[in-house]
Amino acid sequence: MITWQELKDSCYSCRKCGLCGTRNNVVFGVGKENADIMFIGEGPGEQEDLQGEPFVGAAGKLLDDMLSIIDVNRTNCYIANIVKCRPPMNRDPKDEEQDACFPYLQKQIELVNPAIIVCLGRIAAKRLIDPDYRITREHGKWICRNGIWMTAIYHPSALLRDLTKRPETFDDLMDIRQKLREVHAQL
Ligand code: SF4
Repeated sequence: MITWQELKDSCYSCRKCGLCGTRNNVVFGVGKENADIMFIGEGPGEQEDLQGEPFVGAAGKLLDDMLSIIDVNRTNCYIANIVKCRPPMNRDPKDEEQDACFPYLQKQIELVNPAIIVCLGRIAAKRLIDPDYRITREHGKWICRNGIWMTAIYHPSALLRDLTKRPETFDDLMDIRQKLREVHAQL
């Protein structure tokens, strides 16, 4: 199996899609490399691109608050994105960009081997759970695939734009906290 260092080296020098031409930094991912839980967003924004770390802007601050609700922090989970380079003007990553980048995330998931994956927003949910995923209808639902419990919640950026989504997200977070406790109880 590929090592973390080999995967990072490959990703940091990657030119497999057009996003390499406009990035400042590859945003590989951060956190505990054998975490029980992974959070997957769609791609880096402006601050993430400048700093080389996922979720560091206003949405990142909100994500930190959301993690604290479920007794998680950046040192005991793993955070990554579907694409590792920033789409210009924060547009959605194109299918061909996601296709090119997805193998990096697949390797990250293999290496972390988490019990739970939480997709942050519809792009990650469509890629990881179901191409027809409807975040407004299906957020908070669970599936178990290849031994990994998977769910999706609204992306923190969506929660910054629309405060009315926060109560249902709080409920989803409570369910995630419960699932995490169940996983820990089985260890
Ligand atoms: S987005 Fe992914 S595939 Fe595209 S250049 Fe960056 S690392 Fe490579």
